[in-house]
Amino acid sequence: MDIKPNLIGITAPELAQSLADMGVPAAQVKMRRRQIWSWLYAHGVEDIEAMHTINKDLRATLADHYRLEPLKVAEEQMSDDGTIKWLFQLDDGFRVETVYIPEPSRGTLCISAQVGCTLNCRFCHTGTQKLVRNLTTAEIVAQVVTARHILKDWSRHNIEGASAGANINRHISNVVCMGMGEPLYNAENMAKGLNIISDGDGLALSRRRITLSTAGVVPEIKPMGEKTGVMLAISLHAVNDDLRNELVPINKKYPLAELLAACKQWPNLSNAKRITFEYVMLDGINDSDAEARQLVRLLASIPAKINLIPFNPWAGSPYECAPPERVKAFADIVNKAGYASPVRRPRGRDIMAACGQLRTADVKKSAAEKRREATPAPAGARA
Ligand code: SAH
Repeated sequence: MDIKPNLIGITAPELAQSLADMGVPAAQVKMRRRQIWSWLYAHGVEDIEAMHTINKDLRATLADHYRLEPLKVAEEQMSDDGTIKWLFQLDDGFRVETVYIPEPSRGTLCISAQVGCTLNCRFCHTGTQKLVRNLTTAEIVAQVVTARHILKDWSRHNIEGASAGANINRHISNVVCMGMGEPLYNAENMAKGLNIISDGDGLALSRRRITLSTAGVVPEIKPMGEKTGVMLAISLHAVNDDLRNELVPINKKYPLAELLAACKQWPNLSNAKRITFEYVMLDGINDSDAEARQLVRLLASIPAKINLIPFNPWAGSPYECAPPERVKAFADIVNKAGYASPVRRPRGRDIMAACGQLRTADVKKSAAEKRREATPAPAGARA
């Protein structure tokens, strides 16, 4: 079946070109493009018909060429702490996870970059998933649009019946690309998507409130910074190559020295725009005082923040989380060296929405299927 492209995720220049191709007079293209953009991303309309400022004929032509479709919610789970995890169903049946994390001062949406992941980081649940494909720009942007629909998170005057003050704790103010997959293995679609969600005339998320996290795809780091101007986070997790090769195997291809050199090339790096280094605390593996001191030395010449992440265990994971007193001792050393080193509070653990726990039910199902296949049929079962 030939399905029309989604209007969500088309870049501004692509949309302008498309309008020109549809016969919109050259003098009107810019205005029409802006109107449609505003309906899509500032007002959050769910239907092309609802774009009142666009004349009927053009609405019909638009609808001939495009559909306007958010992602389908296959599953929604809410944690005791208010974190919401959605399993979104894509057109081809694959599923990805998106997580909303409300906090008193902000609301963060954690979006996915790929179905599954090819990196195989030893401590990460997503890495155990085999199926992988890149998300399209439409699917990247639609995660934000769909979450805003569900949370009724469009500008307040557009929400029917919303009273003043409604949605304050629901507002998506920040986006982190820390869901499933490696964003820098999907760099082109990711850059397009991030430029759409940060466009000031639309979803208008501040680039300073968008953070792209990478395990270290070195050649893509600087170009991504130049194309998007968002914030960077590096999944460091180890301070020497031997251990990092084991925990984050992409380190064999791009070792620490190359990774840190690439960080120094990040555009506009300054104390106001520091790089976040994520460091997962694994009991007896990477959590010693000596490693904390080495971490400080390693980052000495980079404007950096350090984010200590308590390891979130999953069934069958080969590690345990470092005990709280170890995390504290590690954090103290890093703090004394002058780094803010917040320990990330795990959110949504009860619904498997915490860092590195994302993995779709599809694969759990196929694991169960595998077990069934491996188990001989009971006596008397149909031959
Ligand atoms: N591929 C990207 C983004 C996805 S992972 C990257 O590697 O940065 C987002 C963050 O969660 C990374 O820092 C990752 O190392 C961390 N993470 C993965 N599994 C985890 C787990 N079980 N517990 C805690 N953090 C985890």
